[in-house]
Amino acid sequence: MHSFSRAFVHPASSPIRELFKYLSDPEMISFAGGYPDKTLFDVEGLREASERAFQDSARCLQYGMTDGISEIKEQAINFMARRGVRAAPENVTVTTGSQQAFDLLLRVMVNEGDVVLVESPTYPNNIQAIRVSGARIVAVPTDRQGLDIDALERTLEDLRARGVRPKLLYTVPTFGNPAGVTLSLERRLRLVALAVQHRFVIAEDDPYSELRFSGVPVESLYALAQRIDGAADWVVHMASLSKILAPGIRVAWSVAPASIAHRCYVAKQSADVGSSPWTQRIASEYLASGRLEPRLELMRQAYGAKCRALSQALRELLPEALDFDEPEGGMFLWARLAAPVDAAALLAKGIEHKVVFVPGAGFHADEPDPATLRVSFTAHSIPRIQEGAVRLQRAWAAARSS
Ligand code: PMP
Repeated sequence: MHSFSRAFVHPASSPIRELFKYLSDPEMISFAGGYPDKTLFDVEGLREASERAFQDSARCLQYGMTDGISEIKEQAINFMARRGVRAAPENVTVTTGSQQAFDLLLRVMVNEGDVVLVESPTYPNNIQAIRVSGARIVAVPTDRQGLDIDALERTLEDLRARGVRPKLLYTVPTFGNPAGVTLSLERRLRLVALAVQHRFVIAEDDPYSELRFSGVPVESLYALAQRIDGAADWVVHMASLSKILAPGIRVAWSVAPASIAHRCYVAKQSADVGSSPWTQRIASEYLASGRLEPRLELMRQAYGAKCRALSQALRELLPEALDFDEPEGGMFLWARLAAPVDAAALLAKGIEHKVVFVPGAGFHADEPDPATLRVSFTAHSIPRIQEGAVRLQRAWAAARSS
């Protein structure tokens, strides 16, 4: 009846959002969404920050600058310094979640039919965003160390031979969603060099790097690029407060070369006029209060303990059935099931046994791998995580014998 736009004739909803219908059941243990532990929200600190913010109620309630109020830009610049990134206000676009930062970047960089490179597997909402933009997705394989740079090089040569220059490469190089892996320094340097050589922009999505609970930090692509002549023109970095403060605040930002940032600013005018000055102001007050660092320390400890508890339980309960590396940070454990049970069959039985996770298929823009699954370890207490693992084992046994 209605005549929809090409991208929405057959809308494919996010595989994670699709599982939400099961979550209203209080008995359900969900390893599905990338939800922070609600007991770790700094409610008191945010209440105080809200009160301070609201002393300037007129500014909270009025329209603010499209690319962000000055206070949060200043805090964003300070925050980026901890990631080794130098930024000026004209490089920063404050956004309504980093989801919007990527959406704006697509609007300003790609035309229908352009090639956007993604790692496979990757974050499905951004596969969705690229599809909506009408760009052509070319997936590059990953291995247990993240993006396979040799494969990327071959893909780039291949595209070049056909006269195609990709516009963007989307990557989550630190504790990726879904695979939880971190790209090594050596691979990062090669990736930046390839971006310069082939003149594509790397969209570095980084909501997770502060959540490292073991291993050694690796510098961000943006920080590395700033030390290589001309390379910083080819990286856009997206940061978010969703996983380290609270997703409900919807405050994030991108840091980009000024020519890109200016265009994101213009694109944002038609997207939402500007993000809420109220929550930006609360976030600025919170970041200025110095409470983030101790809170992050609590999160790292808690998530590290949860991750170890989950890994240990899965190793004990499903030693032959599941293959995975224990993550060093972030929120996700990515595993591969041994035949004959695949992730869809396990999920079907899991729903009966009141445990859910996300099958890996939806994270692939190319060939879905039915054996993979993503298990998020952050939201529940350790006893609930252990109970969830027991239910998974039961679900697996039921799937195997059916
Ligand atoms: N990028 C990645 C890799 C994510 O995992 C998420 C959230 N799950 C986002 C972006 C979106 O986060 P935000 O809440 O900042 O929009």
